[in-house]
Amino acid sequence: MAIRTRFAPSPTGYMHIGNLRTALYAYLVAKKDPEGVYILRIEDTDQGRLVEGATDIIYDTLKACGLKHDEGPDNGGDFGPYIQSERVRSGLYLKYAKELIQRGGAHYCFCDEELIAAQRELQEARGESFKFDDPCKLLTIEECEARIEAGEKFVIRQTIPEAGTTYFDDEVFGRITVENNTLDEQVLIKSDGFPTYNFANVIDDHLMGITDVVRGMEYLSSTPKYNLIYNAFDWDIPRYIHCPPVMKDEHSKLSKRNGDASFQDLVAKGYLPGAILNYIALLGWSPTEDREIFTLDELVQAFDVKHIGTSGAIFDPEKLKWVNGMWLRNMDLDSYEKLVTPYIDEAVKGNFNRRQIAAILQQRAQTLAEIPEMLTFFDNFPSYSNDLFINKKMKTDPTIALKSLQASYEALKNQEDWSEEALHTTLLALPAKLEMKNGQVLFPLRLAITGMQFTPGGAIEISSILGKEETLRRLELSIQQLQQ
Ligand code: GLU
Repeated sequence: MAIRTRFAPSPTGYMHIGNLRTALYAYLVAKKDPEGVYILRIEDTDQGRLVEGATDIIYDTLKACGLKHDEGPDNGGDFGPYIQSERVRSGLYLKYAKELIQRGGAHYCFCDEELIAAQRELQEARGESFKFDDPCKLLTIEECEARIEAGEKFVIRQTIPEAGTTYFDDEVFGRITVENNTLDEQVLIKSDGFPTYNFANVIDDHLMGITDVVRGMEYLSSTPKYNLIYNAFDWDIPRYIHCPPVMKDEHSKLSKRNGDASFQDLVAKGYLPGAILNYIALLGWSPTEDREIFTLDELVQAFDVKHIGTSGAIFDPEKLKWVNGMWLRNMDLDSYEKLVTPYIDEAVKGNFNRRQIAAILQQRAQTLAEIPEMLTFFDNFPSYSNDLFINKKMKTDPTIALKSLQASYEALKNQEDWSEEALHTTLLALPAKLEMKNGQVLFPLRLAITGMQFTPGGAIEISSILGKEETLRRLELSIQQLQQ
């Protein structure tokens, strides 16, 4: 039987990192099987929590990441509709809820809020944790149907056996067993006729032939209740793969409410969707090989549910940056240039060679958004302090710098060929002549023509991009500044 997984988001806002990781793992589990099917199902039965535009964010994110679903609301499939609110209209959930009542797995309930609140108060006063004891369980189905006929409002609740235990086997967390008397008789169908998430999810997973349920571990505690429903219907129980949470630090989960970045925020900050996906794959899963950079196809090959850990994975923005930088460096120069040209154009208005700028950036920039700031020195030669020439590692100070800059100036003044190769030959002939180290010539030169301690690219590449006239002009200014 082919593997079928689904990503089942609720359209309640932006796409957070934990959500996207669930989408990714569900995709990987499906695609590991050459016949595997990956489904997108929109779980929008909680109408109060819906956020306009959230479904589009889901489509856009999956598309940007290359997580292509084989079945879903937009591309159809044999098991639709794939949006729960559309499924509600066919009366499907109510029909299954009624069948579950017949099978003893659920019951009608007419209790109002006051009655439930009174029970809660009483139990809590006794120091117990609250568990609703539903008097409606004593009613016969016929009595209930008569009351409904007479227009009384009702919900349908799950019926949980009073004694015994329920267990399930999770691929990540192993066997989990709970006492039935700790499980609450949750609402399956609300008084407005809508199913709760907990019910619709089980019915749909069954009807859509889902073999492997991949989701966050916040659903671990509900899973025994789902299994009681599967068992009451005599349905096959799917394989469960619950994923550990993505954490901000040891104590708190990553969340937009804490100001943590969403997928959209990260893209806006100049991260590549592929790199984000690569990084979040590593949050909770560890590859067996000593390697961290994976394309989506490579992840499909390498991924194994057995290597998902149980403890929360901490989201490390520095590590993400590093992964993004690796992705940028791995691009061919043509694609890279195309990608970064808008960012270069944002900072550089002068007539400098974009391709050469792209080439120096590629070795340095870890995100796209940081690019404009790295390039300001092209258009504006900033003022800087002579103290910057003091550098222990390069063994330079203003005196050494002045001597080497004067030599560079003399050598470059007569230079016609301004290509990197030619500049390289000319400038690297100087250290020997001056009895200096390479760094004592190249470091002061780079500083003298950029005014910056850190730049993408070295003295030779930057001189070549600036051109003869501008390089000599800046060099002259810097020499004058050192002579004062
Ligand atoms: N709609 C649920 C959510 O967005 C999905 C849970 C599941 O995958 O079972 O969290």
